[in-house]
Order: sequence, then C-alpha cells, then structure tokens
Amino acid sequence: MNSQWIYVNGQFVNKNEAVISVYDHGFLYGDGVFEGIRVYSGNVFQLKEHLDRLYASAHSIRLTIPYSKEELTQIIVNTVRKNELSSAYIRVVISRGEGDLGLDPRNCSNPSVIVIAEALSIYSQDLYENGLKLVSVATRRNRPDVLSPQIKSLNYLNNILVKLESTQSGADEALMLNDQGYVTEGSADNIFIVKNGVIITPPVYLGALEGITRNVIIDVARNLNYQIEERPFTTHDVYIADEVFLTGTAAEVIPVIEVDGRPIQNGKPGEITKHLLHTFRDLVTTAGIQCYPKQGNELDA
Ligand code: PMP
Repeated sequence: MNSQWIYVNGQFVNKNEAVISVYDHGFLYGDGVFEGIRVYSGNVFQLKEHLDRLYASAHSIRLTIPYSKEELTQIIVNTVRKNELSSAYIRVVISRGEGDLGLDPRNCSNPSVIVIAEALSIYSQDLYENGLKLVSVATRRNRPDVLSPQIKSLNYLNNILVKLESTQSGADEALMLNDQGYVTEGSADNIFIVKNGVIITPPVYLGALEGITRNVIIDVARNLNYQIEERPFTTHDVYIADEVFLTGTAAEVIPVIEVDGRPIQNGKPGEITKHLLHTFRDLVTTAGIQCYPKQGNELDA
C-alpha cells in the first residue's frame, strides 16, 4: 500500500498527518474506549457485536460517542474501502478529546474519533500450526470493582504489565489470574481448556473481558455438538488439560502447547482446537457486513 488513510475526527488524512492534540485525555489519562475488529474477504466480522461493546464501554465511563451506530458503521466500512483492503484489522478509538491538564472530563468538549484499518497478522502462521507457550504471571487481573475488565478502555496498563512479564520469561503470551488465584484470560485473549471432551472457559465475572471471539467459539462448539461449560478453574486444571487454546479478534483461535513449563499432553495442538479453528476460519469469510457490495446495492461513499 502506497498511502494509508486514517479517519480522524470527520476526515480521512494520510498516516503521516494523522495526529491528535497532546491535550487529548486519551493520551494524557487513557480516558477513552476502543475496539479491535477484523475484516475477512471484505466482510467486517461481528461488527454489530463490536459496536454494541464499544457503546457499552463508552456508556459505562459516561462518554458520548458523537455518532449513531449506523453512522459509525458507515465510517468503518468507508475506511476499509478507502484503503482498498480485503483482509484487515480495524482499530476504532473514541477518546474523551482535548481538555486541560486536569483530570476533569467536563473540560473536554469534543470526543476524538479515530478509525485505522490496515493489513495485519499478529501471530505467525507457525504458532497456529505448532501452538504457543503461556506463562502465568504475578500481576493480577484488574478487579471488576476497581476497573471492570468489561470496559474496553484505553487504560491497558494491567495488560501491558502482564505482557512485559511473559516476554521477560520467554513465553509467547501471559496467563492472568484474579486475586483469588482463578484463571481469567490472556493479555488480550480469552482462554479455553478441554478436559475429557468438555470445553471449559472461565465465567467473565471472574475478571475476563467478554470476548466476541469467545462467544462465537461457544456458539460454534455448541453447533458442533461439543459440551461446553463456563466454570472457574486454576492453573493446575490448565496443566492437566487435554487441550488449551486462546481466542481473540487478533489471535482468532490459537493452540497452546505449554503452560509454565508443563507441556499440554504431548505438546502438540489438540484435535478439538484444530476442529474449532478450521470451522472458525470457514465462518469468518462468509459472515459479516460486506464492505464491497455488488452493483446496485452501493453504500454511500
Ligand atoms: N481479553 C482482552 C483483555 C482483550 O483485550 C481481548 C481483545 N479484544 C480479548 C480478551 C478477546 O476479545 P475479542 O474476542 O472480542 O477480541
């Protein structure tokens, strides 16, 4: 791609000119919300679900997004089209906007709205085929009564701190526990284990984001007649699981082959994980909001 167009506060600007104020409270205080969304073969996957979560996060922090969901849908689709992308990762950021150096959001009059779409693959093909290594970290997941993991806010320091810990110990991804020691999620993905044919994921109230991929995989697994349960588990349950995998918009469905130095079974991606990954990959290319409609069904440019 020669040029990349970023949507910034009402207009498309070139990447080099896509700037926001240093007084933006998103920058100064992490005051804002965001979503990461995928486009597969020109289809924006689960856009309604991502927008519902974005508006819920914004509502929770009393931030009014200055567009309706329909308008924001159009902006997202237009950003994909403007960049002529077929498969892409989209980042939507709504920050409190420009204010003064004080914390008070009342001094910020206009939220900033940014949409970035670019071709991106977070994990290498090798990790999808051979699996990744997890390490449980000392840093605990934010308690829901301190900062709810359901708010997908610009405050990702908790996640960044666990990422730093996992990188430091040579693992590919972190496993976060809550203050009771129960497994919650990865730094940016949800976790599932498989034991005796049953697929298990922690309930979100333990301290995990209610991932959209997580919910899709729960549906996919049910449709494939797997037994699926949401219940608490510990690192011990992870170590002795038959299979472990992570889900996320960026991660999709990715096998885990080692946790805290313990191989998961024979240290190879499991059959149920592979089945779910293949079914997920088939689904994503056929479902979603089309960015490039057939003639006669044009969206507004
Ligand atoms: N947990 C966290 C902390 C995340 O940031 C993400 C990525 N959004 C996920 C889980 C996975 O959620 P989703 O499937 O909606 O991308």
